[in-house]
Amino acid sequence: MVKFIFITGGVLSSVGKGVVTASIGKILQVRGYRVSVIKIDPYLNVDCGTMNPYQHGEIFVTEDGGEIDLDIGHYERFLDLNLTKDHNITTGQIYWTVIERERRGDYLGKCVQIVPHITDEIKHRIYMVAEEEPIDVLLTEVGGTVGDIEGLPYLEAIRQIRLEKGYENTVFVHVALVPVLDTTGEEKTKPLQHSVNELRRIGIQPDIIVARCIRNIGEETKAKIALFGTIPREAVFCSYTLQCVYQAPLILDGQGMGEYVVKRLFLNPVKPDWFEWKQIVDSFLTANYEVKIAMVGKYAALADAYVSINEAVKHAAAYCNAKSKIDWIEAEEFENEENLEKLLDYDGIIVPPGFGARGTEGKILAADYARRMDIPLLGICFGFQMAIVAFARYVCDLKDANSTENDPETNHPVIDLMIEQRGIEKLGGTMRLGAQPVKLTPGTIAYKLYGCRDVIMERHRHRWEVNTKYWDVLQKHGMVFSGRSIDGTRVEIFELPNRYFYMGTQFHPEFKSRPGKPSPPYYGFVKACLTRRLGLSKTEFVENL
Ligand code: GLN
Repeated sequence: MVKFIFITGGVLSSVGKGVVTASIGKILQVRGYRVSVIKIDPYLNVDCGTMNPYQHGEIFVTEDGGEIDLDIGHYERFLDLNLTKDHNITTGQIYWTVIERERRGDYLGKCVQIVPHITDEIKHRIYMVAEEEPIDVLLTEVGGTVGDIEGLPYLEAIRQIRLEKGYENTVFVHVALVPVLDTTGEEKTKPLQHSVNELRRIGIQPDIIVARCIRNIGEETKAKIALFGTIPREAVFCSYTLQCVYQAPLILDGQGMGEYVVKRLFLNPVKPDWFEWKQIVDSFLTANYEVKIAMVGKYAALADAYVSINEAVKHAAAYCNAKSKIDWIEAEEFENEENLEKLLDYDGIIVPPGFGARGTEGKILAADYARRMDIPLLGICFGFQMAIVAFARYVCDLKDANSTENDPETNHPVIDLMIEQRGIEKLGGTMRLGAQPVKLTPGTIAYKLYGCRDVIMERHRHRWEVNTKYWDVLQKHGMVFSGRSIDGTRVEIFELPNRYFYMGTQFHPEFKSRPGKPSPPYYGFVKACLTRRLGLSKTEFVENL
């Protein structure tokens, strides 16, 4: 029988529920329990594919082509799982299904209501994952904050699951902020108390409370939370700000989380095996070297917009015994070419994914500068496309070459809309999405990085691609296509053999990067940054891969 853990949040959103959820999963995994995770997003969008990442955070892509919430990325990285899109439930999906059913006449004679029809559909989707996967425990994180109007049907559904599955098979975890007053240094629990009360008003008494705080809260604060939360003192934990996010499961387990959860779920107590995870965490904390990377993007501010890229760089750096420092530089700055010199301060440059024209010229100029100055470069998706545009303009001498996404009238559309994308009007879920096979070219750096495998699978999210009409001219000028789609019709990876490291991927390798198992292109890039910084030659870099 699968056990259920539900995680809710209080006081404010972005409180770190995702990391707590992933950490509880890890705590169970190291005890030999098989886990899976669902994220509930109470918004009306069917998925987050059409949302602005600079406002809502990164759009994470799953193997099966789901465009989903970035928390799924945390789960995959912490738990080394590949989750499918049915692990992200949104209000849009639930209502869509129920309304379609109503139109078909499935509810004939009935008045269709939030309780029971919407709540039944929510439960059905949670139970479906629990039944279909070989797991012992299913964690479900309810997005948003307790008290939000849109979250109510989900809380009602999980309240009912407690009734249906029983006390011994269900646990409610509430994560809430405990602010520290800067004047007195006091830890304030009142907002947390209010959010627990709000949860109780809905009919849910939490079993475990996790206080999110900038520091480890004191014993007195924990006792107070236990008293007002009506839970034993041993059921109160603190998730505090850490140097490395992957420490979180160790910190929570150190406070007794694993023992408590296992006891509370009537599972067999098993001694945890943290050996491997501790080694991974140590590699992040004890790195001896540093690499400094410039990320040339748009709206550099919101770190959440590129969380998987940040993590992939960190994974690769830790693997190379280095810490990474990423500076965000607004691409538009480079439209003034004088500013390009700033890039000389960096060991490497990433041109990240993107859409639309603003900042594009800056990205193209930065990619060209990296080539001219032989600074290692990694271009991802839009970044791959812009590096090719730069090469077409400044090496192949195709003046005004561009992507038709930026300039539909360009004389040299080196990047063009894929044929099957023409005529698509609905924007939601219609890109080339998810894991697709990529055939590698033997003898290339990419081939070596991927362990000399002929075919790899990587995740995609794009509408544009390299125009076949320009393949010849690009190759004639020295660009190597080191990866193509399996049928040979699309360019998936390019590299420049006469540069230290200059590579772009049409896909997003960051989504498959894991701590301790870095993504090959990120590993190659970071390793190049480091070896070049240490004064080693390109030959030495390649030999050491
Ligand atoms: N806008 C580009 C395309 O659709 C790149 C997308 C991306 O970077 N994810 O092809």
